[in-house]
Amino acid sequence: MNKSSPEMLIIKKQNMERRKFFKAVGLLTAAAYVSPKVFGKDQPQVKTSSIEGIPPTEFPPLPFAYNALEPYFDARTMEIHYDKHHRAYYTNFMNAVKGTPLEGKALSEIFAGVSKQTDAVRNNAGGYYNHLFFWKNLGAGSAGPGADLLAAITKSFGSLDKFKEIFNTAAKTRFGSGWAWLYLGSDKKLAVTSTPNQDNPLMDLSTVKGTPLLALDVWEHAYYLKYQNRRPDYIDAFWYVVNWEEVNRRYTAALKG
Ligand code: MN
Repeated sequence: MNKSSPEMLIIKKQNMERRKFFKAVGLLTAAAYVSPKVFGKDQPQVKTSSIEGIPPTEFPPLPFAYNALEPYFDARTMEIHYDKHHRAYYTNFMNAVKGTPLEGKALSEIFAGVSKQTDAVRNNAGGYYNHLFFWKNLGAGSAGPGADLLAAITKSFGSLDKFKEIFNTAAKTRFGSGWAWLYLGSDKKLAVTSTPNQDNPLMDLSTVKGTPLLALDVWEHAYYLKYQNRRPDYIDAFWYVVNWEEVNRRYTAALKG
C-alpha cells in the first residue's frame, strides 16, 4: 500500500483516534493498579502504573478492545489470548500463592527469589506478569521511540532498524515457546535477549537479568490462528502495534531506578 494512498490516510486517521483512546485508557489503568491493600487510608495515594511493585488483587482488564490491533493482531486471537491464556495464568498464580508467605507479595519480590519456588509459581507468576506487560506495550498508531530512547538504541545497536533486526532474530530463534525482550541491564545499557517458557529478565534464575522495556510473546498461541507456522510474519506485524510511549516511559523510569 502506497504511503499517501486513500487507504493509508484512513488508517492514519484511525490511528490518531486510537491514540486518544489509549491515552484515556492508560490513565484509567494506572489508577486501577493502586491497590487499597498497599496504600492504606492514612498513606499518600501514590499514582503509579508499576506492575512489578504491587501485589495483584484482581485480573486486570485488557487496556484496549479485542479488535484494536487489527489487521496485525486479529480480534479472535486477542480474545483467546487474554481471556483464556492470560486469565488461566492469573488464576493458577493466585491459587499457587494462596495461604503461602508469597500471598500479597509484589511480583518483583517473587521473581527475585523464584529459583526457590515451585514450577507452578515460576510459570504462572511469569505468565501473569509477562502478559500484563505485553498488553501495555501494545497499541496502534504510535509515533516511535522518543529522542532519549532512540539515542540509547542507536548507541547500543547502531540504528533503530538494526535494533529491530537483532530483536527479530531473538524472537525467531527462540526454540519452542518463550519471549523476546528489550531490557535495561544493571550497567544501564540496552540489550536484547529471549527467555524460555514464561521466564523473564526479572527472575533470579534467568541467565540475563535487567529491567524489561519491551516484550514479544512468541508462544504459538499468540499467532497460530492468523499466521499458522509463520512466526516471522507475526514478528513483522508486531512493529506496527508497539506502544512506544509505554516503552519510553519504562525506559525513563528504569534509568532512575
Ligand atoms: Mn501468551
